[in-house]
Amino acid sequence: AKREGRGVVRLFDEGMDENIRLRRAIEGGLSQAIAKGELSLVYQPIVAREELEVIGFEALLRWNTNDHGPISPAVFIPIAEETNLIHELGDWVLGESLKVLAEWPSQYVSVNFSPRQFRRHNFVARLVETVQRAGIDPRRVQIEITETAIFDDADRAADTLYKLRQMGFRIALDDFGTGYSSLYNIRKFALDCLKIDRSFIDGMGRERESAAIVHSIIHLGHALGLGVIAEGVETEAQLQALRVAGCSHMQGYFFSRPVTQDVACEIAQARYML
Ligand code: C2E
Ligand code: CA
Ligand code: CA
Ligand code: CA
Repeated sequence: AKREGRGVVRLFDEGMDENIRLRRAIEGGLSQAIAKGELSLVYQPIVAREELEVIGFEALLRWNTNDHGPISPAVFIPIAEETNLIHELGDWVLGESLKVLAEWPSQYVSVNFSPRQFRRHNFVARLVETVQRAGIDPRRVQIEITETAIFDDADRAADTLYKLRQMGFRIALDDFGTGYSSLYNIRKFALDCLKIDRSFIDGMGRERESAAIVHSIIHLGHALGLGVIAEGVETEAQLQALRVAGCSHMQGYFFSRPVTQDVACEIAQARYML
């Protein structure tokens, strides 16, 4: 048993080394990604239930490294988030997202902000300055934040959200249902909509629990006067079920995968999906 124990420890150590090397490599690569032109954004349409009108697009970051090909944001965002790199990336994402707005007739752009960005010193002032300098109406910018960003320091977050909302920004609570927010506390925050996490939409057709959760979130959202966006809608059956449940907005591969700036522009001009 003792030998086995040592073996496990050694394996674990090697695993750690490997892991740390990989993280360092990603950090190093990311710090140069902007300068090397390796970053880009793709845009995924958000549609309104009734006529599938495209009312906005979520901006999603892509990193295509010259040496190793594409790396998923699910891998590099958490690493950037542990360092100040997230600020540099976030500033770049915001700048690009605001530029693309000029090409769309009416849609908004929905931008992901990580908890660290949201808690950054002078977050509101910086954001307002950037948006004003770009000559953009804040009502065309939706800020996506997760529960983790707001529930750790709820009072301060509530204050930040209030200010943003006063200035006209839209606020979406992302991945809703996966965090540990108390439903009661949701009232404290100035929000425009809840985004139901993909995992619940995915489970809807298979498990009663997921369907029940989706229904509860839709009812809760509406009771609080919020919009509800279902994310990760992949099938016609999910679309119909969400329509019946009264969900106001949807997003997912069934309508469109995230697309390049050019394709997004065509979709924005056409205004309706399908
Ligand atoms: P998220 O904000 O929850 O974004 C939704 C993810 O679901 C995206 O993955 C999107 O491509 C994917 N998706 C959309 N529709 C479907 C569908 O119908 N089926 C399936 N299977 N997937 C779908 P992506 O682009 O890989 O991004 C992963 C995560 O990385 C995002 O999750 C977000 O947390 C983070 N991220 C991406 N871009 C940014 C960014 O610019 N800033 C920050 N802070 N985080 C970002
Ligand atoms: Ca998001
Ligand atoms: Ca999400
Ligand atoms: Ca998600």
